[in-house]
Amino acid sequence: MRFAIVGKKLMTPFRIFDDVVVLVEGDRISAVGNSSLLSRHKAEVVDVRDHLISPGFIDLHLHGGGGRDVMEGTPEALETIAETHARGGTTAFLATTLTAPLEQIHAALEAISRACTSEEIAGAKILGAHLEGPYLNPKQAGAQNPAYLRNPDPKELEGLLKKYPCLKRVTLAPELPGGLETGRLLRAHDVMASIGHSDATYQQILEAVEAGFSHVTHLFSATSTVKRIEAYRFAGVAEATLLLDALSTELIADGHHLPPSLIKLALRAKGTDRVCAVTDAISAAGLGPGEYELGGLPIIVESEVTSDFEAQPPAGSCVAKLADRSAFAGSVALMNQVLQTLVNLVGLPLVEAVKMVTWTPAHILGISHERGLVAPGMYADLVVLDDAFSVKMTIVEGKIVYQNL
Ligand SMILES: [Zn+2]
Repeated sequence: MRFAIVGKKLMTPFRIFDDVVVLVEGDRISAVGNSSLLSRHKAEVVDVRDHLISPGFIDLHLHGGGGRDVMEGTPEALETIAETHARGGTTAFLATTLTAPLEQIHAALEAISRACTSEEIAGAKILGAHLEGPYLNPKQAGAQNPAYLRNPDPKELEGLLKKYPCLKRVTLAPELPGGLETGRLLRAHDVMASIGHSDATYQQILEAVEAGFSHVTHLFSATSTVKRIEAYRFAGVAEATLLLDALSTELIADGHHLPPSLIKLALRAKGTDRVCAVTDAISAAGLGPGEYELGGLPIIVESEVTSDFEAQPPAGSCVAKLADRSAFAGSVALMNQVLQTLVNLVGLPLVEAVKMVTWTPAHILGISHERGLVAPGMYADLVVLDDAFSVKMTIVEGKIVYQNL
């Protein structure tokens, strides 16, 4: 199957083309150019001439959507999540687990393994699994269930790595006993070791980097910062991340979790090649305001923002809070809301913002040779957007999976 997408503008995302034609053959992009391509190649034309074309969005941190959660451990749940996020322009993601009893983690990984290799799952491509917990620091638990937090167990994790090759990323706190050994194990298996829900000091982060940790999970959320012990100051995870080029990171850029100032600070320190944006979305993503449940806890999804917050999030955008509104319970954003936040709230040029949800996450995960870029030979993962960041079409490996033209 060959078709040509004809659009107003393309962000590769390293440059911008006007009046562009992207030729798709099978699951790959075969050519990118102007209308002369149409006279040289016979292809069915998909006309999106009023709109922007971008690489499909890649989300390295995603728990759920459309009312379903990765922890349900069923193909139906994963499919609903994949379809829901495809409506926001996501073409590939890491299905992310939560801290839970081991049997439940096994069930989730089993389902993700099957979904990764299945041709049947509709919507966005599931790249693999991201294990978030249970090896997290109780001092930085966030919304992870403290009842199931444990010290890293390299033997146990080695069992999971051998059984589930779909495991591509693990978030853990390296300062816990067994943390560094776990980092070395992940490095040996070529799996991304990510520092998260961590109370480490700068010195401990240096040890973690030497043990193979390369990324920091949702910077400024469940990450330690400067603390004073007796007379002396100790830098924490946040400062270490900003300072060390060896570490890449991700930001929950839903317009609620982080104010523009913190996003700007991370980008000034590290640039858009080392900082990607994620949704960290939960099951209520894509459902709108209301009362829901998350892992047995009642939560509220609403658009209200505290009056002295730095900026007004995108109109109508929501966030999940614990029932007493004392803390966030997760984001309910789709990726187009993240892009909108980066451009409208933070003020990034569109092409830089697009890079943070396409090439940068692909590069961080080590898949930028096949995804995250519109160029010949790459997977035909594409999203078509209007000027207000509404998704008009999502194409995953050459198949149109969502359309709202
Ligand atoms: Zn998460």
